[in-house]
Amino acid sequence: MQAEAIFTGTEMLLGQIINTNAAFLGRELAAAGINLYRQVVVGDNLERIREAIAAARQRADLIIVSGGLGPTEDDLSREALAAALDLSLVEDPAARENITRYFTARRRSMTANNFKQALLPAGARALDNPYGTAAGVYLEHEGKVYALLPGPPWEFEPMVTDRLLPLLKPYGARREVIFSRVLKISGLGESAVEEAVKDLLHGDNPTVAPLAKPGEVTLRLTARAGNTEAARQLIQPLEAAIRERLGEYIFGIDDETLEGVTGTMLAARRLTLAVAESCTGGLLAHRVTNIPGSSDYFLGGLVTYSNEAKVKFLGVEPEVLAAHGAVSSEVAAAMASGVRRAVGTDIGIGITGIAGPGGGSPEKPVGLVYLGIDFQGRVEVRRELFLGQRESIKWQSTQSALDFLWRSLRGKK
Ligand code: ATP
Ligand code: MG
Repeated sequence: MQAEAIFTGTEMLLGQIINTNAAFLGRELAAAGINLYRQVVVGDNLERIREAIAAARQRADLIIVSGGLGPTEDDLSREALAAALDLSLVEDPAARENITRYFTARRRSMTANNFKQALLPAGARALDNPYGTAAGVYLEHEGKVYALLPGPPWEFEPMVTDRLLPLLKPYGARREVIFSRVLKISGLGESAVEEAVKDLLHGDNPTVAPLAKPGEVTLRLTARAGNTEAARQLIQPLEAAIRERLGEYIFGIDDETLEGVTGTMLAARRLTLAVAESCTGGLLAHRVTNIPGSSDYFLGGLVTYSNEAKVKFLGVEPEVLAAHGAVSSEVAAAMASGVRRAVGTDIGIGITGIAGPGGGSPEKPVGLVYLGIDFQGRVEVRRELFLGQRESIKWQSTQSALDFLWRSLRGKK
């Protein structure tokens, strides 16, 4: 079977993101015994994507399109495939179900344009996507296979291994089961993780692939074997070796999150939490409360953005603010203790920092963030210096706060 891949996304042409899906797909198809003869990058333009599909089907038996399955106007892959093959678009119940389920699980409401994601070219089937709203699209048409997969790498990668490759077995892809386990790491940077497992990265089966997101690194262990149990067994010694080296940084597996893992620990130990946020503007409380059942342990949060609010609601001493500034370890500690007192919890967390782009100085640059935790009266503070844009600094701050909480909870087991 000969394949061609089309990666859609103007941001790749502009050099704003790197086409990591290309590298991933290349590795996976090679391992599955499918020849990938060409990769093309096309902007989010209906005519150019249509043209790329039309050209690819002249040469290849399998055409894979990455991206453009979202709900917005620049998401055009379904339309482009339909146009290239002269098919109509029809609503697919499974694709619609994929959208509804995603929103229900996150307790969010849908907009009308989301249902555009349920339209598939006639004859195509939806590929279930547990990681996002957009189902993948799989179509066998005039002896050729077409697959449209979502662009975000954390959706694209499992869709390739778990959905697409099994369907390609009849076409000569190796008859093997692929089993993956993701180890989720916090508190250690991408290069430090890579350094620690460098000698394990060149294996063929199982493989280890690092992936970094802001504030989090994941290692994906993948094995191929005749059945799932055999694949699991191939991964086991590798996972044990990695845990031996990085165990104290691994907080979870697969789709576990820091807010989920810490939530489970808090609930199990009947501990309560309150947060006081400055530069993160409520993002920490938002993430904590994304976890169903968080009302068992999360009692409240205060966004104290001004000095006055820190004094009034948290009881931070004006003298402490004057002497050390709002972004200081002293104020982070006082915020943590203040919110713990104000809300009446076992644990209080305080965050204060400079998210930028303005407000930095040589002594206190943009990205400087102090985090305080008051765990039943024992106060600790952590200092961070993050790189990135405002939103990324806010995200990384909450990531560090959750990591801090996780470590505190583990330390008191
Ligand atoms: P969405 O529902 O998020 O819109 P989509 O299937 O429409 O998903 P795109 O809009 O093409 O996908 O891409 C969404 C995001 O996924 C991009 O902004 C980018 O961050 C990432 N992404 C897309 N394609 C790639 C790629 N080939 N390599 C790495 N990242 C990618
Ligand atoms: Mg999109």
